[in-house]
Amino acid sequence: MTSPPISEEEFAARARHFLEANAEKRVARETSFGEGPDEVSVLPERTPEEDAAEVRAAKEWAAKVFDAGFGWITGPPAYGGGGLPGSFQRIYSKLEAGYETPSQAPRLIGLGMIAPTILAHGTEAAKKAYLRKLWRGDIIACQLFSEPSHGSDLAGVQTRAIKDGEEWVLSGQKVWTSGAQYSQIGEIICRTDPEAPKHKGLSMFIVDMEAPGVEVRPLRQMTGGASFNEVFLEEVRVPADHLLGEENGGWTVALTTLMNERAAIGGGGAGAGVGPAHRLLDLMRHLGLQEDPLLRQEYADLWVNLQVARWNSERALSKMRAGQLPGPELSTAKLSLTENMRRTAELAARLLGPRIIADTGEWGTYAWSKYLLGVPGMRIAGGTDEVMRNIVAERVLGLPKEPSASK
Ligand SMILES: Cc1cc2nc3c(=O)[nH]c(=O)nc-3n(C[C@H](O)[C@H](O)[C@H](O)COP(=O)(O)OP(=O)(O)OC[C@H]3O[C@@H](n4cnc5c(N)ncnc54)[C@H](O)[C@@H]3O)c2cc1C
Repeated sequence: MTSPPISEEEFAARARHFLEANAEKRVARETSFGEGPDEVSVLPERTPEEDAAEVRAAKEWAAKVFDAGFGWITGPPAYGGGGLPGSFQRIYSKLEAGYETPSQAPRLIGLGMIAPTILAHGTEAAKKAYLRKLWRGDIIACQLFSEPSHGSDLAGVQTRAIKDGEEWVLSGQKVWTSGAQYSQIGEIICRTDPEAPKHKGLSMFIVDMEAPGVEVRPLRQMTGGASFNEVFLEEVRVPADHLLGEENGGWTVALTTLMNERAAIGGGGAGAGVGPAHRLLDLMRHLGLQEDPLLRQEYADLWVNLQVARWNSERALSKMRAGQLPGPELSTAKLSLTENMRRTAELAARLLGPRIIADTGEWGTYAWSKYLLGVPGMRIAGGTDEVMRNIVAERVLGLPKEPSASK
């Protein structure tokens, strides 16, 4: 194995220099009841203007980081990456966490799921056209998988792609597409052979979200925001070199994306839930309920489960860092994440009683309603709790497969 062209020490010194020059040091703040933004939500609750400002800030920071050589540290140099080992990425991430930098939330789907899929299955033309732009923040990508009648049963999707010379023509409808409103490209799964068994008649494409025939309509959530959309496609033309993987081999490509999705959601569980749990403790103290033995027990149960989830996610992540594939333990990581969110929301509701549904204007009380109403979404996104339990039962515990009615 050839050694990297730069030592870890020199790399860290350059990273420190870049961060010092471009960002403010993060100041550790003690949380206490009544201070800071009155927001505890699961899904973003933003206006289109706030969305646009967040996207602009994310892209500007991404371009700066990329141009300084820290944007895609481990990626292949042929497509804009730095070609360095994963240890260099960990060094940079740890250093950057010590600074105030704009949220990169709008880029997470593109970088966590779509870019790895393009790298694994894209044509040379697609890799050259999109990977650098995605990592530099020039473009954002979304995932066009679910349809009105096909979510868990993804292999049943009906959006059609028909070959026409050197192009494909796409028609159909997708739904629940997070971030479609600000994405420039999407990864889309379509049916290319309606006669074949359902898993074998699918192909995956990259579609230009600004092409004629693509219409994005926002869907309003019960919490007020609109972070996902319906996407209608009417005879949208896609060049042949935008096919990902083989024609009718889309299911294999989908599995790559889904595995990365579970890694992104479940692996992200390493520190997830700790912020809301701290806030709950502040709330218990504010309400004078911190000595109630049953509530203390419930809180302790939540805290223990958060720590178990954290160590489980760390274990899965270190397996991935060692070059192994993210395995079924990530399905348990996603399940623990959503179970802990449920525990948090239920305890908040018990502490607050009617104040969680009636806004009295008091800080830190009604704000929890958005968390309570947002948790079911997390239990559905990226594979529902029930589907995750099936995966754990069949692939981890080796229990018999559930009966399937489809061919
Ligand atoms: C916050 C959020 C963001 C999302 N973002 C995206 C996105 O960006 N792109 C995208 O393509 N999709 C996205 N989705 C859609 C998501 O992938 C689907 O909602 C999910 O796969 C479930 O599909 P469905 O809604 O059709 O429900 P269904 O599949 O119809 O499920 C309905 C119920 O039946 C249960 N069920 C289904 N099959 C089984 C089974 N075999 N065994 C036991 N129970 C079963 C489910 O658990 C659920 O309770 C998002 C969803 C949410 C909530």
